[in-house]
Amino acid sequence: MSPHRPHRPPDEGGFGWDEVDVMAYKQEGEAPFRHVTRQVLFDHPELACQLRYFEVAPGGHTTLERHEHVHAVMVVRGRGRALVGDAVHELALNDLVQVPASTWHQFRAPDDEPLGFLCLVNAERDRPQLPGVSDLAALRSDPERARFIRH
Ligand code: MN
Repeated sequence: MSPHRPHRPPDEGGFGWDEVDVMAYKQEGEAPFRHVTRQVLFDHPELACQLRYFEVAPGGHTTLERHEHVHAVMVVRGRGRALVGDAVHELALNDLVQVPASTWHQFRAPDDEPLGFLCLVNAERDRPQLPGVSDLAALRSDPERARFIRH
């Protein structure tokens, strides 16, 4: 199979590849999120995993969620911050982030720059869980987490 070339250089407004659709991050109304797109770069049954590219536009955030499957993330555009478990981390270009099983996580872009990252996941995976009232209370028990999370 011939390579799928990038068709939008990063300095021209985003990452894109030939024959790769830019899709909604999730169905509208399915879960809280803001300004996120999703591109599935590799999705072959033989791999048993998928490689996706997510881009969070300035001011945007992914869903605050947890699940049994794990994420392996690499930042490839811009910068941002992520909640992983108990801690909020600064993210810089090319940082690697592992999200363990059953761990609350959320990614946010700053107000002046997008955050783009590759995310490797199992092809077959459980559905994300959203936080309930007691989960949110526990997450918000720490002031830094309370300021960070969007839900
Ligand atoms: Mn997730």
